Amino acid sequence: MKILMVTAEAAPYAKTGGLADAVASLARELQRAGDEVRLLLPLYGSVEEIYRRRMFPLPYPLAIRLGTVHWARVHEHIEPGGLRVYFLEYQRYFGRDRIYDDGRRAFSDNAERFSLLCRAALDLPGLIQWIPDVFHCHDWMAGLVPVFLETRDRQGPLWRSASVLTVHNLSHQGYADRSILDFAGLPRSLFRPDQLEACGGVNFLKGGLYFANKLTTVSPSYAGEIQAEELGCGLQNVLRFRSGDLMGILNGIDGDVWNPATDPLIPHNYSRGQLAGKALCKKSFYQKYFPAGGDGRPLFTAIARLCQQKGLDVLAEILPRLFATVDIRVALLGSGDRKLEEQLRQLARQFPDRLHVTVGYDEAQAHLLEAAGDFFLMPSRFEPCGLNQLYSLRYGTLPIVRSTGGLRDSVLCYDERTGAGTGFTFHDLTPQSLADAIGWACACYHDRPRHLRAMVHRAMGQDFSWSRPAARYRDCYRWALESKRGSG
Ligand code: ADP
Repeated sequence: MKILMVTAEAAPYAKTGGLADAVASLARELQRAGDEVRLLLPLYGSVEEIYRRRMFPLPYPLAIRLGTVHWARVHEHIEPGGLRVYFLEYQRYFGRDRIYDDGRRAFSDNAERFSLLCRAALDLPGLIQWIPDVFHCHDWMAGLVPVFLETRDRQGPLWRSASVLTVHNLSHQGYADRSILDFAGLPRSLFRPDQLEACGGVNFLKGGLYFANKLTTVSPSYAGEIQAEELGCGLQNVLRFRSGDLMGILNGIDGDVWNPATDPLIPHNYSRGQLAGKALCKKSFYQKYFPAGGDGRPLFTAIARLCQQKGLDVLAEILPRLFATVDIRVALLGSGDRKLEEQLRQLARQFPDRLHVTVGYDEAQAHLLEAAGDFFLMPSRFEPCGLNQLYSLRYGTLPIVRSTGGLRDSVLCYDERTGAGTGFTFHDLTPQSLADAIGWACACYHDRPRHLRAMVHRAMGQDFSWSRPAARYRDCYRWALESKRGSG
């Protein structure tokens, strides 16, 4: 099958979060398994020189037929595995470093920028003489691709191409004034409450959800949750309307980067059958960060963007009470909300022998925390998929998670009668339930070490590679093609 991925991010070229990893890993896995996959993303000012040196400009410029024609350059890079990556160069919109906004501007032109990306995806096949079977669109930034495909491009060379839209996080939707339709060259008749209109403006994601042949999101539970008001972010009606075309597919992880047996960023390597290195990682962590001692005490770790979604504000609230009642060590890594950053720093000053906090983005520290911890905390308010709990399972650091979205689909709750499970789950995000879950994990650590060892063993044996999800995406592409060509 021929698939064109349309995305604002792909690792390692442009990344702000999990989206970049998921798109790039999926594309490479499909290509490896024999599909012909190509990827289109903008050439941001921040794309590093080492990648620029490997690209070649296509011989002809691309005419992007929005309301008026915009001319752009496209650069091609072929990865060693055969994946072709096209970088769209359009200085005025993408020459800046930041992927989503230029913080110095009084208004955002994201809608114009990503309209250009979407239209470029539909005009590129003519330039490279390659018609994709499926346009795989990621998040709102690619939301107008299905809209074009089912309106302006319904006739013409792309009439047999289908579209799949994947929602990586429903809380980002892409709003614009209705004048964006003229800019994009889309009919004004689309400005209807059941199609592109929302709250008086144009909603890119809603348009994509309405027009794409099939929809996916990044876990089966999240696929159900976004159809209800609580997590539907205002789009629950269109999602319910399309529920028969929606699949939830849990993301995989990159097993080359996240593998405790070979990870160069941790002091001692280990595997499921050889766990001694894990204990040594914890020991050297304690020597470095808790020199006052802590041997025999459980270590709880967490890594996250510090924002509402991740629920670490609730952890911060209960830490003083926890330290007064249970003898534990906690190590946190994250950045984001300034108030929460300061609150965590303050707590670390108050409890230097119990709590270590790193504020910032630190890849090496993230790997170390995954390896050294006994338990990994993810009390998220919502979590479309989540990667850190998957890394924790791989590293034998038992996740303690709120039962939501991808966390619920990947962590099996401990059963103290049988010893089954791969972690600890709780339902309500209240200070009391989070404290109870941590207390439960402590009790298991001290009183049921055999159960704990069996869980670590079981967790490390789970398969979260990309091969299974990639096969499901392939099913989804076939399904999209059937519905497109059947109706054509
Ligand atoms: P999200 O995409 O919502 O941020 P995920 O759990 O899906 O959450 O993925 C986050 C990714 O970013 C993980 O790979 C995680 O390790 C990484 N990450 C988040 N914050 C930091 C940080 N401060 N330092 C290093 N890595 C981080």
